[in-house]
Amino acid sequence: MAETRSTCPYCGVGCGVIIESQHDRITGVRGDPEHPANFGRLCTKGSTLHLTATEAVTRQARLLQPMQRLQRGAPAQPVGWDDAIGLAADRLGDIIEQHGPDAVGFYLSGQLLTEDYHVFNKLARGLVGTNQIDSNSRLCMSSAVVGYKRTLGSDAPPTCYDDLAQTDCLFISGSNTAWAHPILFRRIEDARAGMKIIVVDPRRTETAEQADLHLQIQPGTDVLLCHGLLHIMLWEGWTRPDYIARHTSGFETLKDLVRQATPERVARGCGVSVEDLHTAARWFAQSNATLSLYCMGLNQSSSGSDKNAALINLHLATGQIGKPGAGPFSLTGQPNAMGGREVGAMATLLPGHRDPADAAHRAEIARLWGVDQLPAQAGKTATELFQAVADGQIKALWIACTNPAQSMPDQALVRRALERAEFVIVQEAFATAATCDYADLLLPAASWGEKEGTVTNSERRITRVRAAIAPAGQARPDWAIARDVARRLEARLRPGQPTLFGFETPEQAWLEHRESTRGRDLDITGLSYDLLDQIGPQQWPLPQGATQGQARLYSYGMFATPDGKARFAADAWRPVAEPRSPRYPFSLSTGRLRDQWHGMTRTGTLGRLFGHVPEPAVGLHPDDLLALGLQAGELVRVSSARGAIVLPVQPAAELGQQQAFIPMHWGSEALSGRDAAGQPLAGVNALTTPASCPLSKQPELKHCAVRIEKA
Ligand code: SF4
Repeated sequence: MAETRSTCPYCGVGCGVIIESQHDRITGVRGDPEHPANFGRLCTKGSTLHLTATEAVTRQARLLQPMQRLQRGAPAQPVGWDDAIGLAADRLGDIIEQHGPDAVGFYLSGQLLTEDYHVFNKLARGLVGTNQIDSNSRLCMSSAVVGYKRTLGSDAPPTCYDDLAQTDCLFISGSNTAWAHPILFRRIEDARAGMKIIVVDPRRTETAEQADLHLQIQPGTDVLLCHGLLHIMLWEGWTRPDYIARHTSGFETLKDLVRQATPERVARGCGVSVEDLHTAARWFAQSNATLSLYCMGLNQSSSGSDKNAALINLHLATGQIGKPGAGPFSLTGQPNAMGGREVGAMATLLPGHRDPADAAHRAEIARLWGVDQLPAQAGKTATELFQAVADGQIKALWIACTNPAQSMPDQALVRRALERAEFVIVQEAFATAATCDYADLLLPAASWGEKEGTVTNSERRITRVRAAIAPAGQARPDWAIARDVARRLEARLRPGQPTLFGFETPEQAWLEHRESTRGRDLDITGLSYDLLDQIGPQQWPLPQGATQGQARLYSYGMFATPDGKARFAADAWRPVAEPRSPRYPFSLSTGRLRDQWHGMTRTGTLGRLFGHVPEPAVGLHPDDLLALGLQAGELVRVSSARGAIVLPVQPAAELGQQQAFIPMHWGSEALSGRDAAGQPLAGVNALTTPASCPLSKQPELKHCAVRIEKA
């Protein structure tokens, strides 16, 4: 039996795994006792990974060879790799020639490895010449990026997992850590003695059950809550004027703004008691060290960037940052959302935390990549990208390692877009992903246990991902597929010039990415694959000459802004984009279950992972069930302004009244969805709104207004 050290592909905790294999078959998995994220532990999803890689699952669920669909709606036909690569390059080349580079779009994924991301980014920006490249990370963490950059000056979580053991007060906001980041929650349980836990969440989740104080706020009132807490801290003299004066700017404007946020007003607006507000403010400000954990509840919002900044304001005002056990700590949902940010494979980013709107930054990357220039025209973010495809501006879309025909909000629009596109490439490991039905060309991608590279977890820690077996069927690593199409396309777009894509190994792609970090806040020029092998996963920055990564940032009160001072953000509270109304009187939230992952392409292959929650349902407060005359298990129609789905209803005492919750995982095979025009749709995103945060462009997947009636 062989053993291979790698990383769990599911969530941003980034647990180390040891893959057991025999004769090119994965036979087992266990937690890596030496990995600093999990020290040998795995959750239910991680510990069953090997069962998702059996021959039976591979046969039934994997995409095993390139396929071409000659006509939309017709069955896809097998095609050889050489023809598939040629077809992709020819069609992309034709569209670029006829309509220009911005007629081609790329939609990537936080599950791609850093090396995959790098090759795609260079292909889009360096070869095609477009910034039309975005990622499903837009749906996951783009509000956190903006929150950090606006206040601390850089997209860098300043904390680490070890801080969980050193904090006195844990402020968890918009995160059901117990289900979404289970191994991190085990670390919280380990450190529980002597720690106060405050949970802010409209639902009484499993995480909230463990809290000393649960602030069960009304959906979308997080900014108001933070302003109210700061008001109390100021009134009580619990802020740190010395820290504010030395290390920050902009406090007076914020102080003026929160003057109106009196405890009574905030308590009324948020739906919590004045007493609880006082308790939360005191614990946050007066504990020796306060750490905040936050995730989709803050990010997936039409005011997501404001929510992030409002929480960071509290840390700055109280000096709860830059010391062990203290600081703001955004959790990433996907295994390599951080890597995508570092590589800059998103419309609003460039490699090494650079800005595509900055001509000097574009010139630096163009020089590094050996191209004349990078495109200056702004690229479209995820929801804008699909809108542009639906409008006919973008003609070709290359989708890799993500399933927008289930995961994007407003599925009616997304599916219209996929139908209108002239050419859709879907690069996927699983043939069961709903988006495969819209592909003109299907490219089989290698999956977990079959590919090499790196990922970065929530605490900035870079870990190697290693292959234990060869890719299933004819599948190939994502970076290699992108490289091969790029090389073919180069013959047309850069005839006679040396290739930009000379990578023969993922390490060569990674080394080029590494060079883009030189001198930047995330500098990893001191890191190498060899060093990762020798000393294990490392946190960035790790510049040349350093011997290990850096656990915490801003310890000396110097921030990544031009004057070294952190900036307070003074944003007035805004309600949700689609408030409840007489026509749609319920607030619908969506989210994860403990044992499922995204659209269930992988976890849905295992019966045992349905033991926790066997089927989709909409949860309602028991009083609402009674008021609507509904019985548990009865079928109901849930409708929003965009569509309707039919599913069973279940009592959910963890919700407030006039609130509903539907898990995000089930698609069209389980939910009979219809859009406003009566067309079949997939899953809960038939209902959700594309309304987005104006700064981060992250859509408000955590709230839309719905009506619920007997089916
Ligand atoms: Fe995998 Fe996340 Fe579970 Fe760790 S906590 S085993 S990374 S799913």
